[in-house]
Amino acid sequence: MSELTQLCDQVRVCTKCDLAKGRTNAVPGEGPENAAIMLIGEAPGFHEDREGRPFVGASGKFLDELLAGINLKREQIYICNVIKCRPPQNRDPQPDEMETCKPYLDRQIELIKPKVIITISRFAMARWFPDRKIGEIHGKPKKVGNLVVLPMYHPAAALHQPSLKKTLQEDFGKIPQILKDMAHLQEEQEQKKPEPPQQLSMF
Ligand code: URA
Repeated sequence: MSELTQLCDQVRVCTKCDLAKGRTNAVPGEGPENAAIMLIGEAPGFHEDREGRPFVGASGKFLDELLAGINLKREQIYICNVIKCRPPQNRDPQPDEMETCKPYLDRQIELIKPKVIITISRFAMARWFPDRKIGEIHGKPKKVGNLVVLPMYHPAAALHQPSLKKTLQEDFGKIPQILKDMAHLQEEQEQKKPEPPQQLSMF
């Protein structure tokens, strides 16, 4: 069993905070272990809590559409949330809940090693862009070490504010070029790697 599978199993039985008391299912996340793209939402909602899977409700449907617009399927990306259990009445996650749940997300990032992280909630965004506003930085990639972090509006926001639909489609439209640029950069870095030292002749 992979370490990621073990981690997700731990999340399913986690009782480290009070959200465990009200949940039907914890929602660890899902997707390929070597996904190039990781998408981090806020927290499970009603449908996610019922099914134990991320983004299966209305915003998940729109997410699928956004991915289809750039020829991607949800099965190709890793999808998870900042916190793994549904808060009562979908209220905002509390600082102590996020702190308690953080090691799970940290380890998911370490194990999956995505090339691009898409944050689609202000709580996910705050990790890399503290004090910034989504209205100012959505769709603007930021390089963080070997990783690119791309903040996006939450698909649910477009369900309430239809003008954001186009913004989200345009921002998602940047992903293929970002992946190409990163592959190019990686190729360049590999070409620059020094040759392994030659064997010294014994004579
Ligand atoms: N919204 C989120 O942020 N995450 C989900 O899993 C579903 C809806």
